[in-house]
Amino acid sequence: MNLLLEEVIVYGAVFLLCFIIVFFYLRKKSSTSKQTKKKVEIAKEEGLHEPVSLHPYIDPNICIGSGACISACPEQDILGMIDGKATVVNASNCVGHGACFHACPVEAISLRIGTEKRGVDLPHVNENFETNMKGIYIAGELGGMGLIKNSVEQGQQAIDSIIKSKRKPKPNLLDVVIVGAGPAGVSATLAAKKHKLSSVTLEQDSLGGTVYTFPRSKIVMTSPMDLPLHGKVKLYDTSKGELLQLWNKVIDEHDLTIIENTKVENITPLEDGTFRITTNKEKEYLSNNVLLAIGRRGSPRKLNIPGEDTEKVAYRLLEPELISEKKIIVIGGGDSAVEAVLLLKDANDVILSYRKDKFARLKPKNRDKIKQADEDGSIQIIYNSNLVEIKEDHVILQVEDESTTRTIENDLVYIFAGGELPTTFLEKAGVEITKRFGYIMKQHK
Ligand SMILES: Cc1cc2nc3c(=O)[nH]c(=O)nc-3n(C[C@H](O)[C@H](O)[C@H](O)COP(=O)(O)OP(=O)(O)OC[C@H]3O[C@@H](n4cnc5c(N)ncnc54)[C@H](O)[C@@H]3O)c2cc1C
Repeated sequence: MNLLLEEVIVYGAVFLLCFIIVFFYLRKKSSTSKQTKKKVEIAKEEGLHEPVSLHPYIDPNICIGSGACISACPEQDILGMIDGKATVVNASNCVGHGACFHACPVEAISLRIGTEKRGVDLPHVNENFETNMKGIYIAGELGGMGLIKNSVEQGQQAIDSIIKSKRKPKPNLLDVVIVGAGPAGVSATLAAKKHKLSSVTLEQDSLGGTVYTFPRSKIVMTSPMDLPLHGKVKLYDTSKGELLQLWNKVIDEHDLTIIENTKVENITPLEDGTFRITTNKEKEYLSNNVLLAIGRRGSPRKLNIPGEDTEKVAYRLLEPELISEKKIIVIGGGDSAVEAVLLLKDANDVILSYRKDKFARLKPKNRDKIKQADEDGSIQIIYNSNLVEIKEDHVILQVEDESTTRTIENDLVYIFAGGELPTTFLEKAGVEITKRFGYIMKQHK
């Protein structure tokens, strides 16, 4: 009898313990689901739920709810959990680290560009990285393959394909012009040198491409990769500084030059199958092949006003923490312009000039913060205004309904007038483009 009682007590205790564990587990699960649903609602209201570029797609039929993707993502609230399945919350904040894709134990995640509703233009590239235009090749993110390691690999593979194509070298002509010096362009430059091709690399901004624009403190996630002329690079969690230092070192060691601040404007196919490459500088190039490693960010739109080519003008804000006590004018009315103003305003004297009479389509958080800054006088907003000239120590602004222009003391100008996507540039060169909906980016695990 005593034995039976003891057994009942033991089984009862085990049952109670299991019940308590299950109860708390289900309660936690339900509260996590509720919180995530709320975050999804807010993301939809703020226009952040719909992805703008590369983003994870989670197949709910495969997801086992391990949460590995959520822990692996270095950004905040891109992914969440609803009813035991991972889900995308703020998709438009995804920057394409690909950490979720690598962490998923059951391959429920694919990285995609575009959605069912929103198409993205992708050029046609065959397995040799060649486009429909014989002699024009594409490597890296532009062709639909994201991440640093993949771009580095594709840069050298594209050069290998150029060599294998056995296009006859022509006298007085370069073997290849490489456009863009991000991970794909840097790797292609090194591979071209390794194979003794005559080449020139042209970059509209600075060596490093998108990596150059990362914040100094960002953890850059990557995996071991082969860099031509250098060998295996065993990096996992690294920094922009470390990567740029490495690329610059290898380029210097091999006496290579990447021509920065030179934008390729046109690639004209010539009758003999070669190409004339014209830039925003006077020099033009004739080449047997062209490798486009231009990524997907496009080129910043210019205002085409006098003084715009001076050093005090920039189209992106790098390291705002290093800028202080300057008189700054920011041009634009979108999120990039507003975010730049918010980052600069505490340490500088900032004016925001916008050509319209009110902001449209700002993220609600930016709208609230800029309104607050305007009200507390920490910035000045000049609506209905257009920058007409940039001088060394001042700028000239034309404000609607004012008969004379305003002259404003100024040290720095930031222009955020939108970007020109590479689509037109590619079409002009004859490269075919197709709109893809929810295109799956090829990735290596
Ligand atoms: C915020 C952010 C964080 C990221 N974090 C990671 C990460 O942690 N790990 C990772 O693996 N990936 C990350 N990525 C993705 C990674 O940066 C890209 O996949 C990679 O840089 C693509 O390399 P790419 O060489 O194809 O293009 P890009 O790096 O974009 O380089 C293209 C270059 O071409 C130049 N160019 C464009 N047009 C012209 C022209 N007409 N003439 C001359 N030059 C031109 C551009 O100025 C640019 O320098 C991140 C991306 C972002 C935006």
